[in-house]
Amino acid sequence: MENDTIISAFETSEGAGARVLRAFPTRLIEDYDPFVLFDEFSLAPNASFPPHPHRGFEALTYMLEGSLRHQDILGNHGEVEALGVQRFTAGRGIVHSEMPGEGSGVSRGLQLWINLPHRLKHADPSYQCISAEEIPAKKVDGGSVRTITGPASPVKILTEMLYIDVCLDPQVFYEAEPVCGWNTFVYVYKGKVDINGQHIERGHAIFFSDHPKLLISAVERCGFVLLSGRPHGEPMYHNGPYVD
Ligand code: FE
Repeated sequence: MENDTIISAFETSEGAGARVLRAFPTRLIEDYDPFVLFDEFSLAPNASFPPHPHRGFEALTYMLEGSLRHQDILGNHGEVEALGVQRFTAGRGIVHSEMPGEGSGVSRGLQLWINLPHRLKHADPSYQCISAEEIPAKKVDGGSVRTITGPASPVKILTEMLYIDVCLDPQVFYEAEPVCGWNTFVYVYKGKVDINGQHIERGHAIFFSDHPKLLISAVERCGFVLLSGRPHGEPMYHNGPYVD
């Protein structure tokens, strides 16, 4: 893929009445090694993801609004509220359900799937629930940065990657320098930003392979996530809920 490819996430439905804005996979971006899928989802109180299976990858759900309950056949269950994270490792197989917490109105979040390398495809399935208070957060001039995965985050993930959530006031700058050779993308979930001279709006993502430096400025009050991961460099077969 060319550097600086910008896409608009497309709206589709999933589960029982869930609306998702899907950044990838699409025909243009089939996967973005080590990442498999990235959705912004929205659940009305009566919508849910009823029990369904997964295998071969890990998933991180970062809540933006409302709350989400997880339950799986291993007996794990948990509920996270806004700015909290759930991680599950599907490994050799898991069946789970996700539904909005009671009384939370519309629940909105970001779900990311990360491929497992071949040697870990049969890993034990597991689950982790991390509250907003446990996610490292720091104030920067005119904004805040929350570290969802990376050094200092308690979120355990089997692929080397960085995942941050950045909120900025209008006209504030943020600089990032992804690791050389890693695949990086930015998804804007609120407001509008300018990245290396390109305008990116809410619901859009921009992809970088091996980019030296990102200079990001807030055109208006904004929220975006920046994700960067070490590619596995292995063939991947994604078929619905399975990644082999
Ligand atoms: Fe699922």
